[in-house]
This record gives sequence, C-alpha cells and structure tokens, in this order.
Amino acid sequence: MKMLIGGKWVDKQKKIDVLNPYDNSLVDTVPHGTVDDIDKAIEIAQKGYEINRNLPAHKRISILKKTADIMQSRYEELAKTIATEGSKTIKEARKEVGRAINTITISAEEARRINGKTIPFDSAEGSENRVGYYYRFPIGIIAAITPFNDPLNLVAHKLGPAIAGGNSVVCKPATVTPLSALKLSECFLEAGLPGEILSVITGHGHEIGDALVSDERIRMVSFTGGVEAGKRVAKHAGLKKIGMELGSNSPVIVLKDCDLNKAVDSCVSGAFWAVGQNCIGVQRIYIQESIYNKFRNLFVQKTKSYKVGYQLDENTDMGPMITEKEAVRVIDWIEDAVDKGANLLTGGTRKGSLVQPTVFEKMPATATLDCQEVFGPVVTLYSVKNLDEAIEKSNNVDYGLHGAVFTNNLNNAFHAIKNMDVGSVIVNDSTDYRVDLMPFGGVKNSGLGREGIKFALQEMTEPKVVCFNL
Ligand code: NAP
Repeated sequence: MKMLIGGKWVDKQKKIDVLNPYDNSLVDTVPHGTVDDIDKAIEIAQKGYEINRNLPAHKRISILKKTADIMQSRYEELAKTIATEGSKTIKEARKEVGRAINTITISAEEARRINGKTIPFDSAEGSENRVGYYYRFPIGIIAAITPFNDPLNLVAHKLGPAIAGGNSVVCKPATVTPLSALKLSECFLEAGLPGEILSVITGHGHEIGDALVSDERIRMVSFTGGVEAGKRVAKHAGLKKIGMELGSNSPVIVLKDCDLNKAVDSCVSGAFWAVGQNCIGVQRIYIQESIYNKFRNLFVQKTKSYKVGYQLDENTDMGPMITEKEAVRVIDWIEDAVDKGANLLTGGTRKGSLVQPTVFEKMPATATLDCQEVFGPVVTLYSVKNLDEAIEKSNNVDYGLHGAVFTNNLNNAFHAIKNMDVGSVIVNDSTDYRVDLMPFGGVKNSGLGREGIKFALQEMTEPKVVCFNL
C-alpha cells in the first residue's frame, strides 16, 4: 500500500516489508517514510486544521458515521488484514473490527456533545455586570503514534476523537502493522473527509519519531506504546500536550468466596488473548491459599487445551507472537525465571514465533517476569493469605493500568476498589475488560491522561472563556 500525505496516496522507492508473523511471508510493502515526509504532512495538516475547525459539527458527524458504515461493509477484509499483518487470530480480529466501528460511531455521537457551560461571573465582587460562558475549541495538529497489538482500534481511538473535535492528524502507526491504519484512512477519505485533515506516515519510530513529536506546529502528541518509547517521546515533545497510554503487568485477585470456574475461564482468556500482547492482559494472579490448588489445577488444564497456530485458521485459539525476535525474548525471560527457581507448570517452549501458553508458580522476586511487563503468553500464579496481602503485592510494581478482583463479598470488592493503585478495577472479570466509551488509562508508568472517546475529546480540545461586560 501507499502512505497518505494530506489526502494523497504517496509511494517511495525505498520500501518497508510487512510480514505475516506466522511464517514471515510477505503480505505487502509500504513506503519507507522519512523526516521530509513528516515535514510535508505537518505543513498540509496546518491547512487541514483550518478546514476541520471550520466544518460545522453536523458535517463531522456525517463523515464519521459514513466512515463507520464503510468499515462495516469492509468488515471481513479489515479482520483479515489485522490477522495477517499481526498476531491476532481471525476470531480475535473480527472482535477488534466490531470495536473499531463502535469507536468511530461513538466519536460521531460525541461530536454533538462538545459542550461548554455558563460561568457565574457575578459570584466575584465587582463582576456583577459580567455574563459569559466557556466553549471547547480544537487544539490543532495532533500526532497520533500507535502500537502493533490492536492495529485498527487503537488508531480509531485517536483519529475518531481528533477529527470529531475539529483537529487535524498526522498518524504514525507501528511499522510492523501499518496496513490496518492505512485501510481505516481509506474509509475516512471515501466518507468525504477533506484530505488535508489526515496523514498516515509509514516509517520507523526511531528514525522519524523525534522530528514528529518535537515539531512546534504539533499541539498534542497522543502516544500508545511501551514505556521506553513513551519516555523518549515525553522528553522530546517540549511544550505541548501529551497523552500517554503505556504498558502494564496487570494483577488479578481471586478470593475464596468467588465463583471459581468463572474466575478460571476469565483469567485464562485474559492471559492469552492476542498472545498476551495486550496492555490489560493478565500477568499476575493472586489466589487465596485455601482455593489455590483447585484454581491452579483448573487453570493449567484449561491452558493445556489451547490450540496454538496459524491465525487465519478458524480453530486456532492463539496465534504467533508479533516477531520471532519477540518470541525469543519471551523464552529468555522464561529461562531466567526457571534458572532462578520458578516452577513451570505448563508451556515454556517455542517454535519460530509460536510460544506455547505458559503458566508459572513460585516466581522469585528477582525474576524479570515478577515485575516487568512480559507482553507475551506468560502468567504467574501466587498463593496469598488474604486480600490485604494480595493488594500489597498487586501494587508493588511500577505499573497501574487495570486491576481485577473476583469475590462475591461486597466489602472485599470495595476494599480492593479503594486500595488497588490502578486506573480501573474490574470486579468479577479479568483485567482484560474494556468498552470503548469508558475512561481508559493508568497511573505510575502506565500513562498520563485518559482515552475513551469522550475523555480523549476533553484532552484534544481546550476551553475558551467568553465574558461580556454589560
Ligand atoms: P513501542 O515499541 O513502544 O511502539 C509504539 C509506537 O511508538 C510505534 O508506532 C513505534 O514505531 C513508535 N515509536 C518507537 N520509537 C519512537 C520514538 N522514538 N518516537 C516516536 N515514536 C516511536 O510499542 P509496541 O511494541 O508497538 O506496543 C507494545 C507496548 O504498547 C506495550 O508496552 C503495551 O503495553 C503498550 N500498549 C499500551 C496500550 C494502552 O492503551 N495503555 C494499548 C496497547 C499497547 P515503530 O513501530 O516504527 O518502532
């Protein structure tokens, strides 16, 4: 495919190969974008901002609605793109397409609710004759940088609210999965989005990232990805808004008063969805000691039933990791844990980019797997005495995106809600639960600010105060 600069499809001689992670077969190529392309895209985006901020809301709403309709008509094609350039199985990819359509539809709905409020100026002495209000205006050009693991919906989460709010966007999708973002842009253009409003530059983050985020014409960087790249982006962004959706190693607490089968099913799915390459994937499970053995046996049994293989096979439960290099990294972490004395209950092996779903117990605190984000199909079970010990251990990491607790006791649920140091607490489901309209984001190294369309719109617009002196 070509890349998109201000509504025009642009090719280049130098290409980047897009490979199927299952067998490294060539799916397509995209242009090798450069710093010059970023500069051109930003220049056109300045016009795009002027165009979009002057579009009436009903026009933006209609473009967003049409985009969602076009995505619906290309449902299966989009799902196959996700499952061919990325790790997800075709069943997982179909769910992502459904969510991305929902994300764009909600963006259309929220575009009519960008409201301000009247201000009680007369509450201040000397301002008796003042009346006024504030309304929200678009922020300008937004740089949208996205990861590989939800290559369609996480792009939709930035483009939808940015466009709904009247901004223009320069998007840089993950280099390994650029096709889904380009196809989403096709839908936007076909729906009538003025071309100047959107660019999608395909190129390596380490080559073009600094130029994109440090450019003073960019007014906000909306970044989703790993902590390392996130910190670099924050350092180079300078004086502009930043939104950071980063990683985690999410904890789930399972108490003896819960529905055990429900907890096992939900945690297995949450640990291995998208091969564990999921910012809210389950990585650490703290189980009350009296039900530990039962939970462990059911959990391992269910994990062993997983079919690992080709993403497009309808019977596959878990596809390949995004690259063989990533699979090797995960195996290294597994070996580190085994060397340090962790007990491997199942999995731990690799064939190419396929890693078997892996379950550990008795993980030593010195193992990398105990505290870092694995971003792969590896989960650790821990036996704990009580809820307080589980909460203390859950919080004892540098991340805090989602946390979960399984319990049928309201007091326990509220105790966990109050004390877990995370952006969301999910009760009686795993951490791998999200709907696209909720405020989504984390604390500590998991990020800054919130996405979820209405909340992203707040970040992507600013209040302007109007005051009349009567
Ligand atoms: P990544 O390596 O950090 O890459 C994310 C994006 O940043 C890619 O587009 C990448 O481009 C770009 N990038 C890399 N270096 C950059 C730089 N110096 N300047 C600007 N952009 C740069 O992350 P990933 O491996 O794709 O995704 C996995 C991570 O994302 C995990 O940590 C996961 O938890 C996190 N994540 C968080 C959320 C959330 O909402 N909280 C959601 C999904 C994923 P290239 O591809 O060209 O390197």
